[in-house]
Amino acid sequence: MDIRNIRNSVEISLHNNAGKVDQATVDELVGQATTAADKKMLVEEFSRDKFDSGVDTKALAKSLGVKSLDTKEMVDVVMGTDPSGAQVRVSHDFSPKGGFDNYAKAAATARIFGSDKAAVVEKNHRYYAVETNVSAEKMIPAKDAPTLDASGGLTLRQYDKLLENTKTVGGKDAWADLAAYTYGVPKDKINVITDVDVEKAGGKLPAKAPPAINIYIGTQLKGDESGMTGPIGDARGANIVKGVPQAAAVVIEADAFTKDPARAQKILFHEGTHLEHNDRLVDLYDKYKQDKASKGKHPIPFEGWISKQKLPAAEKQLMMDLSEGKTADTEALAHVESFVASFNKWTVASSTTAGRQAQEGSDLLVLPKNPDKAVAKLAQDELMEFYNSMPPSTQRSIRKTLEAMKSVEGTDWLLKQGPVADMLATAEPKGW
Ligand SMILES: [Zn+2]
Repeated sequence: MDIRNIRNSVEISLHNNAGKVDQATVDELVGQATTAADKKMLVEEFSRDKFDSGVDTKALAKSLGVKSLDTKEMVDVVMGTDPSGAQVRVSHDFSPKGGFDNYAKAAATARIFGSDKAAVVEKNHRYYAVETNVSAEKMIPAKDAPTLDASGGLTLRQYDKLLENTKTVGGKDAWADLAAYTYGVPKDKINVITDVDVEKAGGKLPAKAPPAINIYIGTQLKGDESGMTGPIGDARGANIVKGVPQAAAVVIEADAFTKDPARAQKILFHEGTHLEHNDRLVDLYDKYKQDKASKGKHPIPFEGWISKQKLPAAEKQLMMDLSEGKTADTEALAHVESFVASFNKWTVASSTTAGRQAQEGSDLLVLPKNPDKAVAKLAQDELMEFYNSMPPSTQRSIRKTLEAMKSVEGTDWLLKQGPVADMLATAEPKGW
C-alpha cells in the first residue's frame, strides 16, 4: 500500500461525498490492507477524516485491529465562505488530540505539510494544524467560527525572491515578509527585532509574547540551532529566576532562513516544543502557589513539590530538571519530536543539499549528551512509534538516516541502546 494512493482515494471520496469518506472507499482500502503496517497506516489516515453516516466505524475499527478510531475535533468545522460563496470547512486535522499548546508548533506543523490549503485554527487557546476543503486565504469568517490563519502555497522561487529582498532591500519589513511567508502566518504575527531595538531596551532582547513569532536580525547571537526560547521581554535571560519560572517567547534567528524554508520551519517546531514545556512548568508553578504546601512557616520548595505530583515519570523529570534550569531533557524531546514531525513530509522539492538534509531531518537532530533516563526512554519510544507506523520504504530511509548519525557525538543514548538500537540491529524491512 502506498500512502499517496490511499490519500488519493480518500480525496476523491471526500470530493464526491460532501467531505465524507464513503463505504466504497473504506471497503477498497481495507481490502488492500494486508499487513499490520498497512492497517496502522489506515488507522492514522482515517483519524483525520469524517465518515459517511452509512459507514460502521466500530466495525471498521475492529477490522483494523483497534478499539476505536480517533476522530480529530476540528474535522468538518465550518470556518466561513470563500469569495465564490463556497463553504470553507476543515477537511483534515494534523494535530494531536486536543490540538497544540502553542501557535508556533501548529503553524510549523501546518507549513511542514506543504499543502496550499494548510491553515492554523485557534479555539479556546488551543491551536490546530489543519487543511481546508477549498482555499481559505480570502475567506469571510463565519459568525462564531474559530480564528483561522490560512497560509496559501509556498514555492521556492518566491521564497528565494523574499530572501533576496532581505539582502537588497533589507530592514524589518523585508524580514517580516520572508518570515510570514515561510511560516504561512499573517505579518502581524511576526515581530522583527534589530540591534537598535536591543539597544533601546537597555541591552535586552525585547521578545514579544506568543502567539508572536520573534525574528532577531541583529548581530549579537548566532546560536547553533538558530533559535531560542526565553522569557518575554528578554529572551536571553534565564527562564527561571530565583526558582520562579518565567512565561516565555520564541525567537528565531535570521540565519535560520538562509538555507531553506524547511529548515526554518523545523526550527520553529523545535522552539515550539521548548515553549510547550516552559508553559507547562509555569502552569505547575501557579498550582504550587495555590497549594498550601507552598505557604506557611516551612514551605516545600517548588522542585520538591513537583517530585510529589502524580505525573508520568518522564514529565516529572522534565519539569524538575527544567525548574533547576537544566535543558538536556527538553532538548532531547525537541530534537526527536521535530525529527518525527517533519521526516520527509516536506513536499516542496529542495534545491540545495542543506535543503535535502533539512527535509530528512538529520541536520537538526543534534542531541544533548545526558537526558534523564525516563526522558530518554520517552524519546526512544516516540521515535519507535513513528518508525513502526511507517511503510517499509519510509522505514528503510529512516534507518539510513539514523545509521548515518551513529558517528555523530552525543547520539549514543538514542541510537546505541534501547529499542532504537534493537531495531537497527535487525534486518531491513522488505516491500515497496
Ligand atoms: Zn533547543
